Amino acid sequence: MSCSPTPERLIQLNERFRIFCEMAEDLSGLQDYPPRPTFSAKDNLCAMGFQARAGSRILEGYRPPFDATPVWRMRQEGMLLLGKTNMDEFGFGTFSTNSGYDVPRNPFDAGRACGGSSGGAAAATSLLEGHVALGVSTGGSISCPASFCGVLGLTPTYGRVSRYGLIDYGNSLDKVGLMTRDSGSLRTWLPVISGPDPKDPTSCVQPMLDLSPRKVERVAVPLEAMQNLGSGVESSFASALKSLQDDHDILVEEVSMPSLKFALSAYYVLATSEASTNLARYCGMRFGVRNSNISQHFNDFFSETRSANFGTEAKRRILLGTYARMVGFRDRYYMKALAVRQLVISEYKRVLNDHDLVLTPTMPFIAPRFADIEKMRPLEAYQADFLTVPPNLAGLPHLSLPCGYIEGMPVGMQAVAPHWEERALLDIAERWTSKFQMRFPEVAR
Ligand code: GLN
Repeated sequence: MSCSPTPERLIQLNERFRIFCEMAEDLSGLQDYPPRPTFSAKDNLCAMGFQARAGSRILEGYRPPFDATPVWRMRQEGMLLLGKTNMDEFGFGTFSTNSGYDVPRNPFDAGRACGGSSGGAAAATSLLEGHVALGVSTGGSISCPASFCGVLGLTPTYGRVSRYGLIDYGNSLDKVGLMTRDSGSLRTWLPVISGPDPKDPTSCVQPMLDLSPRKVERVAVPLEAMQNLGSGVESSFASALKSLQDDHDILVEEVSMPSLKFALSAYYVLATSEASTNLARYCGMRFGVRNSNISQHFNDFFSETRSANFGTEAKRRILLGTYARMVGFRDRYYMKALAVRQLVISEYKRVLNDHDLVLTPTMPFIAPRFADIEKMRPLEAYQADFLTVPPNLAGLPHLSLPCGYIEGMPVGMQAVAPHWEERALLDIAERWTSKFQMRFPEVAR
């Protein structure tokens, strides 16, 4: 059962950790008896009564008159929506530092990042007992922050959860998922947000969600994933593997998946290509900020709004994505990336044919300090995603779960299951958390 914070406590936590870009005005439901369980929605999910800005200044003032399907389904269960969580602008980032609003702080150490792009969602989950956060992943935005903030992060199969009411990043990659502190909540809330929705045709071809037991017996660890890891991450992951064998009787086998080396480059070509077309609609006319100077030439009108209101990373991705799709370059970049994507999918299929899961660390390092992030070049930040991107490219369901602590900071491991086999992820989550001692931040009043 959840133990909700008082409204005052929530406001205090938010001031310290910058979880929400907008909080519910009426928090009186927190004092209901019995207390109402709470949830939050990443800012790129539409929710009635709130702005939906996807972390971007360009959407300032946009108030959708409807709920995204997953938000609506949570509300139907009586869940109280606490607010919209901070994120990287449109999901473009790995640390939530590319936000047009506030940058969430890691609950274990406020000098460090929460991860991204669903950073505020992970902070909320880590700080609030019984809380369920709706996150969104395009290339790892649920796994990464879950790993940095020491919570469970479930990204369902592409198409499992309706994307109606989600502000698109890359339509062939976007997935709505869950962050929770315990596996029981995943089992409770996954069926609630899943299932066909006529408003998102992609969700209508899914097989029924089957959560009957599927015991994980054999897992694969790709050698290619074990390179460039921080030493603490490497040893935490190694002892997790040992515990899986010794305490859980799971067979761990090394495999080779050469295509993993190319997944990151393919992802950034495809994701930016899709993003650059999706962002075309933000021109100062239809959503969010409005350019009142309507007597200008349309080119000036659009570029004025876009120059002033998109952040640096959004602009970089518009340029990258537009370039990759240009006549003359399309075969070299976009088409090549699609071919790599097929390769990644078939390699996972091969390995998952005789293994229940593919297992890797989630991130190559623990949550970095803000000062260190500032020194990173954009390419270095992209490279941090090399373990979270592959299952996203393949649309496979995956789960990040805490597997150790170094310097007081959580380390995550990531399990990838076959398409539609979320139940294998629940099995590993339940068995792992029954023995592993999870830690949560202790935040003084
Ligand atoms: N870090 C990756 C990116 O910047 C993934 C982000 C996401 O899943 N939204 O594209």
